[in-house]
Parts: sequence; C-alpha cells; structure tokens
Amino acid sequence: MTEVIKARVRNALSQYNDPYLQGTVLETGVLKSIEIDDNITHIKLEFGFPLGPYEKIIKSSLMPYLNALPGLPKIELNITSRIRAHQVQSGLKPLSNIKNIIAVASGKGGVGKSTTAVNLAVTLAQLGAQVGLLDADIYGPSQPIMLGASGRPALNSDKKLIPVHAFGVKTMSIGYLVDEQSPVIWRGPMVSSTLQQLLNETAWGELDYLIVDLPPGTGDIQLTLAQKIPVSGALIVTTPQDIALCDAVKALNMFKKVSVSVLGVIQNMSMHVCERCGHQEAIFGSGGGDLMAKKHQVPLLGDLPLDTRIRTYSDEGQPLVAIEESGEIAAMYREIARKLTAKLSLEPVDYSNNIPKIVVKTN
Ligand code: ADP
Repeated sequence: MTEVIKARVRNALSQYNDPYLQGTVLETGVLKSIEIDDNITHIKLEFGFPLGPYEKIIKSSLMPYLNALPGLPKIELNITSRIRAHQVQSGLKPLSNIKNIIAVASGKGGVGKSTTAVNLAVTLAQLGAQVGLLDADIYGPSQPIMLGASGRPALNSDKKLIPVHAFGVKTMSIGYLVDEQSPVIWRGPMVSSTLQQLLNETAWGELDYLIVDLPPGTGDIQLTLAQKIPVSGALIVTTPQDIALCDAVKALNMFKKVSVSVLGVIQNMSMHVCERCGHQEAIFGSGGGDLMAKKHQVPLLGDLPLDTRIRTYSDEGQPLVAIEESGEIAAMYREIARKLTAKLSLEPVDYSNNIPKIVVKTN
C-alpha cells in the first residue's frame, strides 16, 4: 500500500514544472525522499540554489496537486536549499571554503558589468546565500565606490585580509589597498599574482558563491582566472549593441576554450523608459543578446533596463537592490540570480573535497 501511495505522490509532484530548473522535481533530482509514518506523508525536497521567498511559491504551487490525491495521509512538505560545489576546469579543484566561483565578464567596458555583479551579489545574499565579491579589476577597481565602502582591510591573526562587509556581502578589492588618486603601474605578471593574492590571502570564511568581477576584455587577468583559478561558471554581461556583442562573444569563447561552463548572458541597458512620458526606447538597439545566446546555445538570463536609478544609487555607493528591495528592478535582478544559480545547480557536482585523504604510514 505504501508503495502505491508513494507512486501517486511522485505522479502528483511530476505535474509541477519548476521554471528555474526547467524540469520537474523528479527529473532534476530535487526530490530526496517520500516517507510515510504515523499517518503522515513526509516529502523532502532539496533545491541546489538559494530560495528566499521562492520557497513559499513552490509550496503553494505543489500543494494543490498533493491535496487533490484522494485518501493521502496528512502531508508534511519539507523544502530546503543546499548549495553544493560544482565542477571546475580540469586540473584544478575548488577551494575548500568557497563552493563556487562565478566569473562575471564582458567584452567591452561600460556595459554595466560591475554594476550587475554588485547587484547580483547583494541579491544572492538577500536570498540567503553566503556571498563574496572579488573586484578583479586591478587597473580600475570600481567596487569600493559602488558599495560606498572604504578604509583599509584589517589583518586577522593568520595575517589574512579581513574582507570588507557591505550589504550582506564580503568584499575585497585592490581599491581598498591602494590610494584612489595615485596611479599604479602594473606589469603583466604582477597583475596575475595580485589577483591570486587577493583571492588566496583574504579570509573569506565559508562561501556558497564568490562573484568575481573581471575587467573588460580577454587580457592577462582573464587568462589567469581561466587557467589558475577554479571557476564553476561564467556570466557574460553585454548591451544589445553590435559592437559590444562582438566583444562579448570573444569573452564567451574564451571560457568555452578552457571548459568553464557559461551559465548565461545578461543583456543590460536593453530598454529605456522615459520617466516623464513612459515612452520606451531601445537606445543600444534590441535583441542582440538574445540572438547571441541562441547562436552560442547559452541561456539569456534576463534583460535589465537602462534606468537612471541603477546609476544614481550606484554612484552614491548603494546598490539599487538594497535600497529598493521590493521594487520592480530588484525583482528583475532576483529573477536573474535564481536562473543563474538554478542553472549552476544542474551542473556536475564536485566531490574532490569530500574524498578522504589516504595516508600510508610505515612503522
Ligand atoms: P563596466 O563594469 O561594464 O565597465 P559599469 O558597471 O561600471 O560598467 O557601468 C558603467 C556606467 O553605467 C556606470 O555609471 C553605471 O552606474 C551605469 N549603468 C550600468 N548599468 C546601468 C543600467 N542598467 N541603467 C543605467 N545605468 C547603468
């Protein structure tokens, strides 16, 4: 009898298609167990991305299917989130305390890559993840300004840099360490070792995601990241404009070449809505990111509008998503953050940190 009930439950659950995972909880491995005891049906679902308020939506989407089952003992639906470490480039292994490094890249400068990285990092923290943000733009760090953060990071007892906490995110940038006004002249090898130092010499603690905001293009820093830093996935930010797209494709191909999964493309500044009359204008063209995503078979994670508020909050050192958390633009960033992390949750899991070390001792 129990097996019959379980089969019915599975059947009911399979009627719900999760929009972020694009599959049922059965197909995507989210269903962990169905147990029946003391006249209670315990259903355990475990999602691999941070849920935040989405947990309630899943529950209210699933319950009608379960409630429609005749003669089912009382239902206890337990929904949790467990973020796991995912596979990185071959020959590298994820850092033991950082489950997933996500690189945010663009072909050209000025497309809104850093702004998007900051807002996504804060959004992921709002959704309940442990998040870090590493400003890898050694030549022109902008994160300290965008986060309204300043001051030199202190050292802990292990002589590691204590990250600067801002809006629920642990952040590190060369901008915290060098004088804003004085130019720093970097040579190629210095850039590479500085990036690695910023990553390895920061006391990040345990992180689910470390968002790495890369400088634009495909130069030394990108090469170091691609070859030496264990990355779980990359995200490409572009505007819909041809010239930006052309360079964005180069960034995309660079990650593909080193077998880093491109989790998606974000089309930023896609539409401007006039504050006075509501007229919509595609200042940087339209549809280019969509075409690029289709052509290269990567998901388009979303379109973000060209909106004065995104820029002004950023200039004031306050990411929009922190100030207008319940607004429509923050909802767009949330949608992108869920699609991004849901996509990552479907990538192969890395087990290298779980493998026990075998030590052979001779007496
Ligand atoms: P990148 O990192 O690609 O060089 P930034 O994130 O520094 O670009 O953004 C460049 C400028 O555009 C900044 O002034 C930023 O505030 C602004 N900006 C970014 N995205 C948007 C947007 N969607 N709407 C309005 N302004 C934006």
